[in-house]
Amino acid sequence: MTYDTDNIFAKILRGEIPCDKVYEDEWVLAFNDIAPQAPVHVLVIPKGAYASMDDFTANASDAEIVGLYRAVGQIARDLGLVEAGYRTINNTGRDSHQEVPHLHVHILAGRPLGPMLAR
Ligand code: AMP
Repeated sequence: MTYDTDNIFAKILRGEIPCDKVYEDEWVLAFNDIAPQAPVHVLVIPKGAYASMDDFTANASDAEIVGLYRAVGQIARDLGLVEAGYRTINNTGRDSHQEVPHLHVHILAGRPLGPMLAR
């Protein structure tokens, strides 16, 4: 998948459209999902231009990969999600219904989240 520089998360990273920011550091930006599926629904995106988990894990530096996953854990701790628990989801490609072609990790929490997948 080639990276589309006009995708909505690229525009958020460039500051061209707003987001409800939750966290930012050298490696990632995190913001509330515009259509939350749970009381807590945060998207964590790398600042680098990676279309998907496939692209990221093939082409990102070790520092970028560590930066993303350290941030996911830090955000969950900052939001007080660890005790009750949370779910992380990444959708990659057609069968997963990935909608936005910039890698993002969903953090979902705030209620019992049910089975991992709908049947
Ligand atoms: P996915 O299906 O894994 O690609 O998830 C894309 C997510 O991006 C969905 O949960 C959308 O609600 C969310 N989304 C789309 N546009 C925006 C936006 N402008 N700000 C925040 N979240 C968004």
